[in-house]
Amino acid sequence: MTNIAFIGLGNMGGPMAANLAKAGHDVTATDLSIGAIDRAVEAGCKRGQSVAAAVADADIVVSMLPAGAHVRSVYMEDYGVLAHAKDGALFIDSSTIDVDSARAVIAAAADKDFAMVDAPVSGGVAAAAAGALTFMVGGESTAFERARPILDVMGKNVFHAGAAGNGQVAKIANNMLLAISMIGTCEAFNLAEKLGLDAQTFFDISSTASGQCWSMTSYCPAPGPVPAAPSNNDYQPGFAAAMMLKDLRLAQGAANAAKVATPLGAQAEAVYALMEAAGKDDLDFSGVMKLIRGDL
Ligand code: NAD
Repeated sequence: MTNIAFIGLGNMGGPMAANLAKAGHDVTATDLSIGAIDRAVEAGCKRGQSVAAAVADADIVVSMLPAGAHVRSVYMEDYGVLAHAKDGALFIDSSTIDVDSARAVIAAAADKDFAMVDAPVSGGVAAAAAGALTFMVGGESTAFERARPILDVMGKNVFHAGAAGNGQVAKIANNMLLAISMIGTCEAFNLAEKLGLDAQTFFDISSTASGQCWSMTSYCPAPGPVPAAPSNNDYQPGFAAAMMLKDLRLAQGAANAAKVATPLGAQAEAVYALMEAAGKDDLDFSGVMKLIRGDL
């Protein structure tokens, strides 16, 4: 049993904290929302009255917050983790945030002799509830090995991606590729259909030919060929277009800062921004098919 502080009990953090408590850990949970803390207490966590109080006795601090500004604040401000954690504590930030913030907070923790990893996840709320997330972890090997048993409770795949911030790099590079392949798949199915080739026949051919990709074979954006795909459920998420757009913006921010050319990533961001402008970013990210078809 480990003393764990869990900060950020939203859609993802709530079920993740619950799984740690269910596994027998002593979890003190805190959030700005009292309702979120109440739900965590019902799920077996202890009530954390504040960040400072929650982390005071923790051997491990896990955070699951919206964006880089929240993570910087929760760790680096006077009320926060670095000022109040006990010596030797390990910090795991699982939020999806910009690479610069991840590296800055890990460096600030190191300045105070705390070990810290960035450990963003792939998988949505259902995977968080099932303890089936994939973690992409950046940080020193020793910190990664200390974090692994805790991450194993919340996830089924745990990868060490290398140095601090590399978890975030893996996440945004993967999701940029996914967005590009999804948009390309939508364009191909739409073109085939408009030229008289039905989705199932095109799928049968392309899924065994060189156009094959995960967006097609596991998540086909054209209704029909992959029964479990959101395209057969009116594009209900799944993984919402709004969350894909968040990750694409993080990818473009990092690419611009590092002067790396990502022309298709930039296009993908622009396409998903159109979903947002149309007020349809609550659809699954494969719902970009509707935009390509002119159905939005
Ligand atoms: P959410 O908005 O539901 O939860 C965030 C929680 O953080 C909220 O309960 C909020 O009150 C709390 N919070 C904010 N500032 C705080 C502070 N200063 N102190 C304490 N608590 C604070 O978000 P979510 O959907 O749980 O996502 C969390 C992170 O996981 C995000 O970075 C998101 O991009 C990433 N993510 C989400 C999903 C998903 O499907 N929802 C999937 C993969 C990754």
